[in-house]
Parts: sequence; C-alpha cells; structure tokens
Amino acid sequence: MVHASNLGFPRIGFQRELKKGLEKYWADELSQQELCEIAHTLRVKNWQLQNGLGIEVLPSNDFSLYDQVLDTICMLGAIPARYHPISDNFNLDVYFAMARGEQKNDLNIPAMEMTKWFNTNYHHIVPEIEPSTTFSFTYQKILDEYLEASSAGFQTRPVLIGPLTFLSLSKSTTHGFSPLQKLDELIPVYQQVLSDLLNAGCEWVQMDEPVLVKDLSDSIKSAYQNAYRRLTELPNRPQIMLAAYFDSLGENFDLAFSLPVEGIHLDLVSGADQWEIINSKFTAGKTLSLGIVDGHNIWRTDLDRVVSDLQRTTASVHGDILLAPSCSLLHIPLDARKEEKIGQPVKSWLAFAVQKLEEISALTNALNGGEKSNLFVENQKVLKDRFVFLSSHRTDDAAAQIDFLSTGRKSPFSVRKVKQQAHLDLPLFPATTIGSFPQTTHIRQMRSRFSKGEISQEEYAEFLRLKIKETIQMQEQIGLDVLVHGEFERNDMVQYFAEQLAGFVFTEHGWVQSFGSRYVRPPILFGDIKRPQPMTVAWSSYAQSLTRKPVKGMLTGPVTILQWSFVRDDQPRSQTCFQIAAAINAEVLDLEKAGIRTIQIDEPALREGLPLKKKNWGAYLDWAVKAFHWACAGVADETQIHTHMCYSEFNEIIASIAALDADVISIEAARSAMELLDAFSDFKYPNDIGPGIYDIHSPRIPSTEEMVILLEKAARVIAPEQLWVNPDCGLKTRNEKEILPALQNMVLAARILRNKINKGNEHNEQN
Ligand code: GLN
Ligand code: ZN
Repeated sequence: MVHASNLGFPRIGFQRELKKGLEKYWADELSQQELCEIAHTLRVKNWQLQNGLGIEVLPSNDFSLYDQVLDTICMLGAIPARYHPISDNFNLDVYFAMARGEQKNDLNIPAMEMTKWFNTNYHHIVPEIEPSTTFSFTYQKILDEYLEASSAGFQTRPVLIGPLTFLSLSKSTTHGFSPLQKLDELIPVYQQVLSDLLNAGCEWVQMDEPVLVKDLSDSIKSAYQNAYRRLTELPNRPQIMLAAYFDSLGENFDLAFSLPVEGIHLDLVSGADQWEIINSKFTAGKTLSLGIVDGHNIWRTDLDRVVSDLQRTTASVHGDILLAPSCSLLHIPLDARKEEKIGQPVKSWLAFAVQKLEEISALTNALNGGEKSNLFVENQKVLKDRFVFLSSHRTDDAAAQIDFLSTGRKSPFSVRKVKQQAHLDLPLFPATTIGSFPQTTHIRQMRSRFSKGEISQEEYAEFLRLKIKETIQMQEQIGLDVLVHGEFERNDMVQYFAEQLAGFVFTEHGWVQSFGSRYVRPPILFGDIKRPQPMTVAWSSYAQSLTRKPVKGMLTGPVTILQWSFVRDDQPRSQTCFQIAAAINAEVLDLEKAGIRTIQIDEPALREGLPLKKKNWGAYLDWAVKAFHWACAGVADETQIHTHMCYSEFNEIIASIAALDADVISIEAARSAMELLDAFSDFKYPNDIGPGIYDIHSPRIPSTEEMVILLEKAARVIAPEQLWVNPDCGLKTRNEKEILPALQNMVLAARILRNKINKGNEHNEQN
C-alpha cells in the first residue's frame, strides 16, 4: 500500500492570521490567550484542510509561533543565561525575548542570532550551546499539539528536529568547545520526549535530520550511529521516520539506512540520483517516504513521470511506501488558485502548498490501483502547453549576442585602476555608501499612494527627484567621495528589477515566511528574461546631473535576482542566470552611455547560493562568476565596477570573489570586528576593497575613533591604496538622525587615516 503524507504545512494562515496576531500581541493589543486561540484555530484548520485533501499522514508540531528551531531550543530547555532574569520559569515572554530581544524596565537583552535554514530563504534562530548548558524537556508544545490534534480527531506524526541537526546548527562562544560535545547529555531529553509522546498515543514521529545531506566528518557520522542507537534503545517509543531533504543523501546513504530507525524520507526532487539507489539497494525493510513533489518550488509536478518512476520502485521495494513533498511546504505559498491577477497560461503552471497536496493525493490513488483522477489529464495538458509556450517564446538573442564578449573586462585591473584614477580623481581611502538611504514612512506612504492611484506618476517622480536632490546635497556636505542616489524608488532590490524585466510574474497572496512575523512574496521567474527598456538610467542620470562627484549606478546582480525568486525548473539555473546577466549587462552599458562612471552590481546572495555539498561548489561558483562577467561585458576600462556582499565569512570562497574581478568590493566587516581579515592575510586580494566600518544593523552611532581603529586593523592586511571607507550595508533600515552623524564620523575617520599616511610619507622623504 502507498500512503499520502506531508512533512509540514505553512503556518502563516491564508489571511496571514499569524502575523497579524503576533504583531497585535507584541503591541499589547491582544492577550496571550487570544494569540493562542488564533494559533489553535490555524492548526486545526490546517489539519482539516490536509485531511480533506486526502493526506493520511498529517504533521503536527510543524506549527510555530516564531520558528521551529527556537521551539526546539525551548523544548530542550537550552535557554541562554542572559534570558534567565526575565522569568524563573520558561514562558512566552522568555520565548519572544529570545527571538526579538528585550528592552523593558531595566533589562536590555539582545535577541539570538538568525541564519538561513540550509539552502532556503527562511531564517532560523541559532541555538547557543555552551559547556554549562543543561537540558530538560521544557517547552512541551510538541506534546500539547499532538494532544490538541487528537482531540480534534486527528492522529498526527509530530515533527521534531533531530539531535545532530540541532547541534550542528548551534554555535558556542567557548574556545575549543563544540556543541556536538553535548550530544550525550541531549539524548535523555529526546528519550523523554519520545516516551511522553508514546504515552499520549503517538505512533510515529518525524525526526528531521537535513544535516544528513551535507558533507559529514567521521566524528559526526559515528555520533549519528551512537545517538540513534541510544534513542532507539528505549523499550517503548513511537516509530521514527528520519527525514533528510534539500539534497540527496549522497555518501551518507548507507549511514542513514544503517540507523535503527523504522523509516527514512528521501528528497527525490533535489536528489533524483537516489531513484537508482533505492531500486537497486536493499533498503533494510524500512518504511520509505518518497519526496516526489517539489516542496521548495512552485511548479506543477509531472504526474505521469512520477507514476512511472514510482511503479519501478514499488515493484522492487518491500515494505510500506509514503508519498510526500520533498521537504516541508513551509517554503512555498499556500494556494495558487487565489492568484486572480496572474494571467494564463502562467497561472495554470503553478502549484502552491494546497495544489502540491492534491498532487500527492492523486498520485497515491493512482498507485493504489484507483482510477487516475482528472488531475492527470489536466496536468498533462498544462505541462505540454507550458513546454510549447516556453519554446516558442525564446529570447536567446540577448544571451547569444553577449557570448562573444563574455570574457570579462578588457584589461587587467592594474591597467584599469590607472585609467579610472585619471577619470575619477579619488583621494586615498575614498569614502562611499552602499546605496540605499533611509526608507522613511513618508517614502513608503508616497509609494503606496502612487500604486493606489492617489497621486499621479508625475507627482511621485517629482517627490523622488526631491529626495534624490536632498540626498546628493547631504552627501556632498558630509564629504563623501563617491555618491549614491539613495534607491528611494525601490520597494525591494530584487522586485524592483523583476517588475521591469519580461519573464516574471508576481503574486498577490503568495506570502512565504522569511522569519518570525516577516513574510515575503518572491517574484516568479517563469520564462525567458528580456529587458524591454532601461530600468535605472533616468534616476542615476538625474542624480549625476546634480553633482561633479561620481554617482554610482546601482544594480542588483544576476545571482541575487535568481536566488531571491522562484525560478523556472525546465532549464538549468545557470542558463536562467546568464539570461538575467545579459539583461543587467544591457543596463550597465546604458548607464555607461549616459555618463555614469561608477556602477555597483550587488551580489549579497552569492554565498548563500552555494550548494549544500562541497563537491558541487566548483560548478556553481564557476557559473556565478561567469554571470557576473557577463553583466560587466564590454565595459570600458575607465568605468569603475563595484560589487557589494553583506557577510564576512569569506574564507572558503575568497578565490571566487576575487575572480569576479570587480574594481571595488564592499563587504560587511564592522559587525564582526574585521574577522574577515583572517581570509585576507592568507589570500592577497588583488583589487580594491571596502571592509565596512559602520555596523548599520544597530541604531548605535559609531565614533570616529572606533572607525579609525577598524581601518587601521584593515590596513594591516590590505594595502592602503586598495582600501575604501564605507558602512557594512545599505542604510535603508536606519533613520536620518542616525546616519548623518555616523557618516560624518566615518568621513572624518577616512581623513585621519589620509593624514597619517601623508605624514608617514613626508617622514620617509625626510629620512
Ligand atoms: N544597494 C543595496 C542597498 O544599499 C544593497 C543591499 C544589500 O546588500 N542587501 O540597500
Ligand atoms: Zn548588504
């Protein structure tokens, strides 16, 4: 028998009930009980809905008020000591303080750090595990939600993050200590959770171990053996479905199947190589959960293809089979049918969470010998139409045209640098910003009034020109050397471009949780990309017309546009990326023609695009770098190309960053106090570089002295002629009161360093 199952359902609600509830609760407009009531209603509705769609194995504990990793930290009682003053016992005040920080009465406790969940755009809270951390079954949500489902009439399979994934995601500030050393102390809590669930009537749990798809050291591999042996030694416990997703198990396939668990979930979408393995290998009598519907993207599944793949497998596998999405549906929107504004044919190609479950249910019926539902007929037709449409709407001319130019810049950096210096006449330690200036409520209001038609295009444009003018004047007064226009016209650095390129559609209700109560609606890249007309030239030219100093043209790079969108799955991502690169290149050349002398192509998502397995890094970095070269193809030596990335963990990819061959790169460094310098002492970065010296994530205004210290630290590993002076990232989240003094201090820091160098030179001459 084949059974329909799910690994996790979006928790935000069809009307974003969770966000609204949380934000009211945080604003003291809702009581805790009212918030819990909203959450309860959402969960019960989700079970009813999934059950109604024919899903037999329903997840519970996939819901979270904020984040599933935070839930796990609290479940295990691993509450960092700085939150202890909030309450003697764990409660929701502690929970939300961990998520968001606490500034009340005389407490001022920072929030826990966040980072991206594997290769998704979902951010989770990073557990903090120290040698002194103790564990106990504390936040009993998993049990409560299991019982809640039972009393609503549903037998569920609770989801929990497995011990090794949990510890692998954790960080510690203790030198020489790894959170993995705590494994032995953690296992008894997991055992407690399992036995309490069993006592409540639970038959199966889903233990998420996505770390299993990554490269594992020998010590983690043996930790897996040890942990799962101990967990399963428990005489009375629910059966365990070990879930690995986002890639193939790869080299860890045998390890996973050697663990004494009763079931294994495989992602056959991202890890299609596993079809062959399960067909040929003895799968140890385990229940297999086959992730055959893409839980991480929004296209319809090729049902007929999956049926034929599955028929081979069901013939060779003995034991139960569950059909499932490849991963939790948390990462896609809820219901494609609600998207009235997306026209045909694209709308018919889409499958969001509800449609994915319909597919799983239809596939299950078909495999159990039931009649193939209408969905199969419709599906075949839609897929054929999609293929025909996409093949007859090719715009490869852009990509072909660029091909012969695609060797990057015309001359090496050393030659370009001299020509650019003659052209731009910049001082030593040039001071600049990353692009955006504060996006005030007023700016947002004007944008929303414009989109509602309350003000005319001309009124809106006039307003933006005014903002640009103010910002240019402000930068001149502050004494910055390379100016920006401020990005006031942009709602978002990807959406702004996507909206102007052909090949994208946008959802009205397609919200996906990014973190906590923050949801995003990623653009959908469905077809070939074309740039019908210039996208930024008018704003940049206007800004440049107001000053003699160079104003940077400001573009989002191809990899970032790709990473932060839902992308077509009918061709390699590299090919799609090259098409975006060709469109960006057209924009670069138009900016250059319009007299813009410096152009920044932001690639903040370059690093997060790295595949989960190291063996695939090379191929990815190769096309990512190539895409950047395409974006810069044909640019004159005199034009200075900048790029920007917002992180400091450069060590592993520094060679590829250098291979981008941008004339100037600005990166985040202030927040981590120039930690990135480790990478630069081993690797001699060839071009110009601006390590951020102003942490824009905090409202704090850094002093000139501390910025001088950071710069001097940088100057120890990077030659002064290569160094730029800039903040960590764009200023859009800050307010004007903060940035003015901070930028003044920053420019002063640059001047102090210039003077020191000049004095040093005089001194040398005298000797
Ligand atoms: N130019 C963008 C800005 O300043 C860069 C944003 C980013 O790196 N995420 O806002
Ligand atoms: Zn940034």
